[in-house]
Amino acid sequence: MRSTPGLTSVIGIVNVGVMIVAVVALIILPFGDDKATTRPAAVPAHKSPVPAASPTAPSAATERSAKEARANELGAVPVLMYHRILKKRLASIDRTPAQLRKELEWLADRGYVPITAAEFTARAIDIPAGAHPVVLTFDDGHPSHFALDADGQPKKDTAVGVIYDVASRHPGFRPVATFWVNKNPFGLVDRDRQSAAVRWLVDRGFEVANHTLGHPDLHRLSKKKVSEAIVREERLLKKLGAPPSTTFALPYGSKPKKRSLAHEGKWDGTSYHFQAVFLAGAEPAVSPYAKDFDPYDIPRIQSNGKRGECRRWCSQYWLGWLDKHPDKRYTSDGDPVHVSMPRRFQGKIQAKFDGLKIAY
Ligand SMILES: [Zn+2]
Repeated sequence: MRSTPGLTSVIGIVNVGVMIVAVVALIILPFGDDKATTRPAAVPAHKSPVPAASPTAPSAATERSAKEARANELGAVPVLMYHRILKKRLASIDRTPAQLRKELEWLADRGYVPITAAEFTARAIDIPAGAHPVVLTFDDGHPSHFALDADGQPKKDTAVGVIYDVASRHPGFRPVATFWVNKNPFGLVDRDRQSAAVRWLVDRGFEVANHTLGHPDLHRLSKKKVSEAIVREERLLKKLGAPPSTTFALPYGSKPKKRSLAHEGKWDGTSYHFQAVFLAGAEPAVSPYAKDFDPYDIPRIQSNGKRGECRRWCSQYWLGWLDKHPDKRYTSDGDPVHVSMPRRFQGKIQAKFDGLKIAY
């Protein structure tokens, strides 16, 4: 992906553009209130644990099966970035429930299967042969992402409601996503309701992870303040019942001056260590098996049409691009252990996965 002609040169500008849009959106728009209702879960858990497969498991891929699936596990993966899901958009980065539903239907119809950011990072990509992973990420823990109705079901037009709705009509579409949250997850201020919401999601295979406590621009903070913003959120998530975060999304996509502090640091006696750091723009992510995969610099694609600055770097553009360049896209061999690819790409694999390689 990074060698796409004419692309790399615009990425820096794109990130700044996306960041400015996000800053403006946060300045002009108030955070949601505490209207969301959380009740005991009545929806059956849809947790899909990754089976403990081994190279000798019956599902192990072969050169023949990998070729039939046109597997390419060194291809690119779209990590989609959503903010608020509102019936009436108030900022360009908002999407309506109808727009989200349409995008997810489009993905489901083309054989994309959601995995979480944590699963992507951990290479726990357990999807059928011929399917493509997609990572759905929602930033800032807005009330439009998750709330339960009086029956204990996800509210219809929330992100989770739309995801379940699409999954109900597309059985292969795993209802999972990643929520990177701050001090009031899903707009909730009551600690018990925050905890009920986080546990509901985590119990069903969703990821709820660290996006700092107060959503500061980390580039402008001292080293100590960067670590404080991260540790305070991590302590909150622990109290709410979330597992330790393995992934982190940079507020505004803005990196601390000391970059390693985004994934590793310590404050007030508490240390943190994330396996991956996600940006706010603006191209498909490199396969986690590929040599040029940088876990601390994973790009995301803003969900949006092709207008204005989104002409070349939002989801409608990139999903269309991946559709037109199937050989550049991650396609699974159906075997979570082996790493399959056409022979011409085999030189791109990280040396440590050489023993698991199936080149056809
Ligand atoms: Zn954010």
